[in-house]
Amino acid sequence: MIGLIAITAAGRASAAQLAAAWPGRTRSYDGPARQALHRAWAECDELVCFLAVGATTRLIAPLLDSKWTDPAVVCVDEPARYAVALVGGHAAGANELCARVAEVFGAQAIITTATDATGLPGLDTLGWPAEGALAAVSRALLDGQPVAFETDVTWPIPPLPVTVGGAGQHRIVVTDRIVPVDENTVVLRPPSLVAGVGASRGVPTEEVLALIAEALAVGGLAPGSVTSLATVEAKAGEAGIAEAAHQGGWQLIAYPADRLAAVPVPNPSEAALAAVGTPGVAEAAALAAGDELVVPKRKSAMATVALARIRPRGRLAVVGLGPGDRELVTPRAIAELRRASVVVGLDRYVDQIRDVLRPGTRVLATGLGQEEERASAAVAEAQQGHAVALVGSGDAGVYAMGSPALAMAGADIDVVGVPGITASLAAASLLGAPLGHDHAMISLSDLHTPWEVIERRVRAAAEGDFVVSFYNPRSADRDWQLGAALAILAEHRQPSTPAGIVRDAYRAGQHVLLTTLAELDPAAVDMRSVVIVGSTSTLNVSGRMVTPRGYRWPC
Ligand code: SAH
Repeated sequence: MIGLIAITAAGRASAAQLAAAWPGRTRSYDGPARQALHRAWAECDELVCFLAVGATTRLIAPLLDSKWTDPAVVCVDEPARYAVALVGGHAAGANELCARVAEVFGAQAIITTATDATGLPGLDTLGWPAEGALAAVSRALLDGQPVAFETDVTWPIPPLPVTVGGAGQHRIVVTDRIVPVDENTVVLRPPSLVAGVGASRGVPTEEVLALIAEALAVGGLAPGSVTSLATVEAKAGEAGIAEAAHQGGWQLIAYPADRLAAVPVPNPSEAALAAVGTPGVAEAAALAAGDELVVPKRKSAMATVALARIRPRGRLAVVGLGPGDRELVTPRAIAELRRASVVVGLDRYVDQIRDVLRPGTRVLATGLGQEEERASAAVAEAQQGHAVALVGSGDAGVYAMGSPALAMAGADIDVVGVPGITASLAAASLLGAPLGHDHAMISLSDLHTPWEVIERRVRAAAEGDFVVSFYNPRSADRDWQLGAALAILAEHRQPSTPAGIVRDAYRAGQHVLLTTLAELDPAAVDMRSVVIVGSTSTLNVSGRMVTPRGYRWPC
């Protein structure tokens, strides 16, 4: 929840504007500033204070505890000209909140965290606990000094600066193991451990926490890498377990007993079987959430704990870049590109977004026609544990790389899709509103699809009276298909049916032509064009192509 603290009339007006912009996500606090801020601090994880930076600093000073637990605080000045990320820049997300607030007011975002301000990935942007010489290593990174990088396994993390990776006086170590550190080493704790917990009724929180700490110490493992606490459903409501998870900042995962009973465990228990219906609770829950048992079950008077390690999974983002114009690339696509350490795509698409990539990003760009290679390269990189972005124009899942890549991808990697504005939508917006009613997209490329199949679909669209967007309509080698497809449509539609050609939508040299089915000249169409043919109800209204939504909503 985002707490809004406003005292003055102007502040309250700005707070109301923000509340209206983000419905359901904000809570307003008013009354005396100190009380309002204290209440918001206790109840919210993000605060926007419509107060001076000085006043806010004095008010929050006694409340500050640690950057891992304090809320993000952003200040907005009286006329809402500036949004200032005051505390919690990286860890609590104040930098990001600040940027979003600034967007709502058209204000300038003031972000002073060095690593964000210079575009270098802050070591703490990963959200992973960092131990050791964070300041010294961050400074070395900013100064461009060589920094060594050591990790137990590959994690899907954003690219590290180009100065990271070789030998260096400073070191970044990624591990869940307790390792010796010196004044030049920072240790990042990846989210790699899960604590499986079982307990008798009424177990004290302290006992659960102490047993987890003991198990970690025995295994030589770092508390900062524990990401979740797993148990059986029957015990998830046990106050000692729920409170331990809360205090540890761990996600509480509860499994049904029959799910845990199916997990083979080294140390089954008759008592657990009788009490909750599974012979393993701690070990089984740890293994259900993790991959490999690293500390077998340990017991105290009322609790059992086992630790499992989670194998990192590579991440494949399938990212649509839209038709071409940078303004039509979504913020989420940009975020995924900056999150990826490897970017795969056709060279001309990669060139469009090269400037947003973080320094150190590995780019695997290939030429036209090497779809298989691109898809398999992207999947192979993700399988090796990297964060990969596979980019495509428009929507990367529409006549593009999404399906070949996902056809090869196994369940061992995470996949995220970022939708993009596909050519048909881009072209439609330039022609008017031709897609106001049912429509079909048909590719006229018969390279991978027999013409008979394409023809059958065109005929079905014609008979079904769909508006049709033709992708891949015509190339030097395929010059008769568009004419054949238009002839089929003409059997079912008037010659005067509006039809549009859009070439290079939202790119340099964009060309838009609204004509009719009878007059559309296939010779004016090429592979960089989309052709949209109206249905029997599509109209030309003031030079715009309009398909009415239906007889209930006449245009
Ligand atoms: N994934 C892409 C489509 C790839 S198929 C998307 O979602 O847009 C390639 C075809 O898309 C081209 O032959 C052309 O018909 C169409 N196309 C892609 N971008 C275009 C643009 N900017 N303007 C017009 N047509 C475009």
